[in-house]
Amino acid sequence: MRVQWTETLDRLSARSLRRELRRFDRAGPVITAKGQRLINLASNNYLGLADDPRLIAAAKEALELYGLGASASPLVCGHLEAHERLEAGLASFKGTEAALVFSSGYATNVGVLSALATPRDAIFLDALVHASLHDGARLSGAEVRRYRHADVDDLRRLLRASSKRGARIVVTDGVFSMDGDLAPLPELVELCEELDALLVVDDAHGTGVIGPGGRGTAAHFGIEDRVPVQIGTLSKALGLQGGFVVGSEALIRFIVNRARAFIYSTAISPALAAAALCALKVVEGEPWRRQAAREHRRRLSDGLREKGYEVKGDPLAPMLLVMIGEAEQALKLAVDLENAGVFAPAIRPPTVPQGTSRIRLAPMATHSSEQIAQALDAFPNGL
Ligand code: PMP
Repeated sequence: MRVQWTETLDRLSARSLRRELRRFDRAGPVITAKGQRLINLASNNYLGLADDPRLIAAAKEALELYGLGASASPLVCGHLEAHERLEAGLASFKGTEAALVFSSGYATNVGVLSALATPRDAIFLDALVHASLHDGARLSGAEVRRYRHADVDDLRRLLRASSKRGARIVVTDGVFSMDGDLAPLPELVELCEELDALLVVDDAHGTGVIGPGGRGTAAHFGIEDRVPVQIGTLSKALGLQGGFVVGSEALIRFIVNRARAFIYSTAISPALAAAALCALKVVEGEPWRRQAAREHRRRLSDGLREKGYEVKGDPLAPMLLVMIGEAEQALKLAVDLENAGVFAPAIRPPTVPQGTSRIRLAPMATHSSEQIAQALDAFPNGL
């Protein structure tokens, strides 16, 4: 076999699309890379909980009680009291009958979609859903159709034209991470109810940040009881690691029996489960975190527009996108920002379409106003 790894990497470099792992010290509002302190606008740790002392204390207590690893997949003997308590907490937080925790958000999406759909069914994906939803849809063997981003009329047309006799499953993100907009959930709910399709919402970026009590995008629209399958992750606003799905008892029992990513993978560390339960309480009890992150976002957005940049994203979303265009230009701006003390990486194809490379900014509740002002100053006047 001729190995083409190096050629492939060279090709990626030539197109400014190569990615490299870098080492950082820790996941705070300021990070250090090669000894340089950088204001960190790159994380999904929106509420600043990844190193919150209360979460750390909850994890330490659980370490003593349960040990470090869950030691088996949940259906064998890895489902411990800490997991059960977290699942009850997630169901209550989201206002559903039941919840189930997976080892990551990625695994949840792959597991849930490949469990829900079969080759007799059809899955309709918003064109901009996260890669893991594409992977899960493909793995299910169902017919996969993409509808234009957030375009309910296009979805209606595709649903009506579908010749599949099995289930029809519509899949969207709640908040689109690389565009910062919200899915039109009320219209999607109406359409799915009208045409008897099952709606699946991955609210990885809405959970903890949007809606009353941070309960997510469906709660923001007041339609949480009309979204039958809601997915989320512990890895973003909750600051940890792991994913989850919430819904009816029947749905969760079905997923337990059918999602291979759940069945054949070790349960998350009980320490993480205990910390996640603590994170849910902090999310509900400290609305100032959501407000602070949103205020930082607003300042960045207003300031960058004043500087002449095209900025995308809903004011309620935790991130904003500075639209640049070519990957090379976006990469250059990211390097300039880093030299000025700000870490905000360029988002390039294949994560986003060709010609729409951008800088993604995700301020944290725990940034200071001075840090946000410094970040704004680091941007040169508009391109
Ligand atoms: N869904 C969405 C919309 C995401 O942005 C991500 C993370 N990039 C995931 C799922 C995967 O979550 P995790 O990092 O917990 O695997």
